[in-house]
Amino acid sequence: RKEQLQLLASVEAVTRDGYRMRLAGNISSVKDFEQAIKYGAQGVGLFRTEFLYMDRPAFPTEDEQFEVYRQIVEKADGHPVVIRTLDIGGDKQLEYFTIPEEENPVLGYRGIRISLDSKELFKTQLTAILRASVYGQIKILLPMVSSLEELKRAKGFVEEAKRELSDRGLPYSDEVEVGVMIEVPAAAAIADLLAREADFFSIGTNDLVQYVLAVDRMNEKIAHMYNSYHPAVLRMLRQTVSAAKEAGIPVSVCGEMAGDEKALPIWLHLGVDTLSMSPQSLLRVKHRILNSSLKEAEEEGRYCYGLSTSEEIEAELTRYLGKDP
Ligand code: PEP
Ligand code: MG
Repeated sequence: RKEQLQLLASVEAVTRDGYRMRLAGNISSVKDFEQAIKYGAQGVGLFRTEFLYMDRPAFPTEDEQFEVYRQIVEKADGHPVVIRTLDIGGDKQLEYFTIPEEENPVLGYRGIRISLDSKELFKTQLTAILRASVYGQIKILLPMVSSLEELKRAKGFVEEAKRELSDRGLPYSDEVEVGVMIEVPAAAAIADLLAREADFFSIGTNDLVQYVLAVDRMNEKIAHMYNSYHPAVLRMLRQTVSAAKEAGIPVSVCGEMAGDEKALPIWLHLGVDTLSMSPQSLLRVKHRILNSSLKEAEEEGRYCYGLSTSEEIEAELTRYLGKDP
C-alpha cells in the first residue's frame, strides 16, 4: 500500500470531476523539504522558521538565514515557498531570548507581537527572506496576527527592509506577497478587513481550534475537547474563506486539519485553494482527492454545515470517508 501510494507522488491532486487542489508541504528544515518533495509536494505552504533559531547560542545572522531560504526556494522548482516569520513564545522558547515568565504564555508575548516589538530581529529575518526572493517564488506569512494595525505595521517593516536592501545595492523580487495566518479568532472575525491588505490567507487550524474553543492544545486533561469539527470552528473557517473569495485572494489551510482526509469535503465545499501538511500526509490526502468527486464532496460539506454538534459532524465525515476508497 505504501509503495502504491508512492506511485502518486508525481500525479496532480485532481478530483474525478476535475477540481485541482494544490498540495504543499509544512516544513521546518531543508531536510523536511527533501522528504516533502519525495512525496510530491508542490512547494512549501508553511516553513516554520522557529527551528532556525532553536538549539543554538544566539540569533541566526542574516547571511545564515538567507542561505537556508535560498536553498529551499531553489529546491522548490518554481513552486511557491511560504516562509512564516518567527513564531516563538507560547510553547516555543529560545534559550538566548528569555521571555519573562507569563501566567498565560499562549495568550502572551508570541509570534508577530514579538517581531513588531523587536525591530532588528524582525528586519534581519525579512531582509534575509527578501534576498532569497530572487531565486524563486517566495511569500511572507505573518503568525498570530489579531488586528489590521499589526498587518500594516509588518508591511511597513517589509518596505523598510526593501529600502535598506536597495541602499546596500542588493537585489530582491518586487513580487513578494505578504499574507496572514488566520489562527486567532479576532483575525477570522475581521477576515474581510484583513483581506483588503493581505495578499493571501493561510488558516492555522491548530491554534484557531485552541483559541475558538478555549482548549489548550497541550493540555491532556481536556484533549477530548479539542475538536476541529466543532461547528464554531467550521463557522470561522467559512467566514475566513468567504472573505478571501470576496476579496479575490488565495486561501490555504496549513494546520493539522489539512492533513486529515475526513476534512476534505469541508475544504471542497468552501473552495480552499491549497492544503499544506506534514510530508507524511501528502500521499494519503492526494489519494483521497483523486478518488473524490467535487460535486459529491461539496454536497457532503454543505450537509455538515447543517449539523449542530462536533460528534454529529465527525461521525458523518467518518461515515463518508468509509464510503469509497
Ligand atoms: C497552526 O497554528 O495551525 C499552525 C500551522 O502553526 P503552528 O502549529 O506552528 O502553531
Ligand atoms: Mg499557530
